[in-house]
Amino acid sequence: MAMVPEFYPHELDVADNFASKAIKRLRVDGIPAVPQNFEVWYVYYANVNPELKSDINDRILEHDKITEQDCKDLYEKYLNFGHERETYQRAGDQINATLHDVTNLMLNVKDTTSEFTGTLKSASNRLEKVEVSDDVRAVLKLISSETDKMMKYNVELEKRLNNSTTMMGELKRDMERIRRQAVTDGLTGLANRKAFDEQIERTTRESKRKKEIFSFIMIDIDHFKTFNDKYGHQVGDQVLRLVAMTLINEVKGQDMAARYGGEEFALILPGTNGTAAKAVAENLRKAVEKKEIINRATGDNLGQITVSLGVSQHFGGDETCEELIRRADMALYASKNKGRNQVTLAKSPHEIAS
Ligand code: GH3
Ligand code: MG
Ligand code: MG
Repeated sequence: MAMVPEFYPHELDVADNFASKAIKRLRVDGIPAVPQNFEVWYVYYANVNPELKSDINDRILEHDKITEQDCKDLYEKYLNFGHERETYQRAGDQINATLHDVTNLMLNVKDTTSEFTGTLKSASNRLEKVEVSDDVRAVLKLISSETDKMMKYNVELEKRLNNSTTMMGELKRDMERIRRQAVTDGLTGLANRKAFDEQIERTTRESKRKKEIFSFIMIDIDHFKTFNDKYGHQVGDQVLRLVAMTLINEVKGQDMAARYGGEEFALILPGTNGTAAKAVAENLRKAVEKKEIINRATGDNLGQITVSLGVSQHFGGDETCEELIRRADMALYASKNKGRNQVTLAKSPHEIAS
């Protein structure tokens, strides 16, 4: 869970203790105690962000200490972007809670007023049958007409409240859209590089902790530059969307498809071994090859495009996601060298080392 400052629920002396530990830690590691670096360590000691804590622990296991660059990365990853995300989430929750309260209040007022009107009417009926002075009757009439006004006002209020509910609903959807845009590639609708980077790190960390395997596929369109130069950037964009659609159609469940960069795509396949991932990659390769590119503007058939793919499996050990990506990249390079439109399964880190 990402944190926002208001989410530090600590008493003065407890907060003081975390702060001292954070400062001490920064001093020992020789890192400037600027707010971002400080916050990373404060959050660590306050134990309020399990993801950040486990990331720090993993990094310490890997290279003994947290560097200034680590602090920068950790801040960006868990605290900076997290603020935005958490703020959106919180604003959305607050809107909902407020709406809920106001609606309930409104319903109560309505109920009470109609009950009151009922009581008033029956009292007035009963009074019809007894002798009362004109003064009493006049007062009664006044109360009755004021109650009518109040009922009308309530109806108006209810209408306005309904409008506000609709507006706030739209606001919430807008906020959700903005949040989604931050992690989506505008051209293809796939997860963007930022979302991919976060996901691959998370998957690698979890895979290490749970000793579970997963696979990674890197996909690159063949001779895309030639295609772009020949038919123009817009047709190129159309091809990128077509490949993205193919990815969306071929991947299932918890798999993640992302646009890695220009004409490169990436797939994360949790719980999938290299052999199975290679089969997925082969299906993708065939699916892309089968498609015909039709120039939307002219209706011309531009023929086929192909992709080259590199597959690497994470064995649940110490390999970092950078190394895993590098192995897939090397396999992709081999696919290109073998003539493109191919899939290559990367060697395991063990095979590479021996
Ligand atoms: P290879 O088979 O070796 O992969 O060759 P290639 O031409 O596909 O690779 P190269 O890296 O030389 O060229 C990639 C091209 O992708 C260059 C650039 O014009 C194009 N490209 C990158 N991003 C976009 C984009 O968003 N839209 C379009 N239309 N083209 C893009
Ligand atoms: Mg490329
Ligand atoms: Mg290419």
